[in-house]
Amino acid sequence: MDHFPIFLATRGQRIVLSGGGEAALAKLRLLLKTSADLIVFAATPDPQIERWADEARLTLHRRAMAPGDAREAKLFYAADEDATEDARTAALAAADGALVNIVDNLQDSAFITPAIVDRDPVTVAIGTEGAAPVLARAIKADLEERLPASLGALTRVGKTFRKLADALPMGRARRDFWRDYYFTTGPRAMAAGADALRPALRDLLHTHLTRDARPGHVAFVGGGPGDPELLTLKARRALDEADVVIYDRLITPAILELARREALMIDVGKEGFGPSTSQEHINALLVEHAQSGAQVVRLKSGDATVFGRLDEEIDAVAAHDIGWHIVPGITAASAAVAGIGQSLTRRDRNSSVRFLTGHDMKGFADHDWAALARPNEVAAIYMGKKSARFVQGRLLMHGADRTTPVTVIENASRPDQRVLATTLSALPRDLTEANMTGPALTFYGLAPRAAVQAATETPLEELA
Ligand code: SAH
Repeated sequence: MDHFPIFLATRGQRIVLSGGGEAALAKLRLLLKTSADLIVFAATPDPQIERWADEARLTLHRRAMAPGDAREAKLFYAADEDATEDARTAALAAADGALVNIVDNLQDSAFITPAIVDRDPVTVAIGTEGAAPVLARAIKADLEERLPASLGALTRVGKTFRKLADALPMGRARRDFWRDYYFTTGPRAMAAGADALRPALRDLLHTHLTRDARPGHVAFVGGGPGDPELLTLKARRALDEADVVIYDRLITPAILELARREALMIDVGKEGFGPSTSQEHINALLVEHAQSGAQVVRLKSGDATVFGRLDEEIDAVAAHDIGWHIVPGITAASAAVAGIGQSLTRRDRNSSVRFLTGHDMKGFADHDWAALARPNEVAAIYMGKKSARFVQGRLLMHGADRTTPVTVIENASRPDQRVLATTLSALPRDLTEANMTGPALTFYGLAPRAAVQAATETPLEELA
């Protein structure tokens, strides 16, 4: 982030602008929304600026800027639309100690003005660091549509109830009340007229003050393979409502960002073979937080029911009579197979698919190798990097074809996804060479579709 957004206090502060044309008008329209003292320097001001001056909404000096004119100004806008004049006024203002913005000159500006969605006191600022003004405008238009015009009034009335609402216990109870107000009761009352808002808010507070507290609960949520867009709507909502999020190592920062800002975030990341938070400790954390009344999200990568030690955690929670439920997620095999454009099952090839783990708690995991070694079998191997040589050995020993396609997908669904297409015989060597450090899923019996197509399109004489 080269530019950090902040909200500047403007009451009683001075903002100076040089310029009297279109660019000046555009900036002034925005600045007139603030409580700042606006001072404009323009030898030939637009009539609109003169009208604003007559209405005492700003102070107009009908001359070019001179040294000292920006003294005690917090911000300065160079809006003369003339590079030489802008450079001159910007230097004067900078010498006076103001933060300087030159209109349409990102390079020489100390700050930039975001696109704004104004539902005062709710303000949304949108910036792209000058990279994509079109995008900023599109986001603004989208938000303008989404945020009701009544939001400002709703917020102003809500503010006067803040103290009263403090009678509700901190945390969930208070949050539920405000959520109800802003998203259900408030807008409904507004529709009946602004006068209906206060009585509705009073009733709502009474309802919330007299209702029973919600008990603690644990949601076992599948966080998917890493791409936040592959979260289910239910997962998003659970994150949105969580008081505590207990998450694994493979959960990406982009997903953690979606949790409520006040939620307690607990990292219990387990390295493949490395140090880990013990399962007992994780179980204890779940019980402790749920018993204190928290809505806990136990966020696991992929689908929580696939190689996730889910049952141990459910047993721990259930043993304490704590309510729980599972929110399914997209497992790594689904994301990885999508990444290579293939199907997990296919008529006339494989009518079943196995999900296996390369190693379990006791070491390399054993499987029905003889069944898997038959032609056209497909298996998704989780945690299969370290066990590649072992798996290869077992399959070859049971008669698998050395040329069986094997594909390893690292960081499936993420921007740094990598695909290694190889064969059973070359797997360990190619895997070592590829030096994969991210989570990787190995498909036994599947090649990327592109590779298969290229091979079948090769003319026969070339194959001969
Ligand atoms: N519950 C998870 C699996 C947990 S075991 C799920 O359903 O996906 C961890 C293993 O999952 C990793 O070793 C790797 O084999 C696989 N995995 C998880 N995320 C992955 C990703 N984004 N890309 C490739 N493999 C992944």
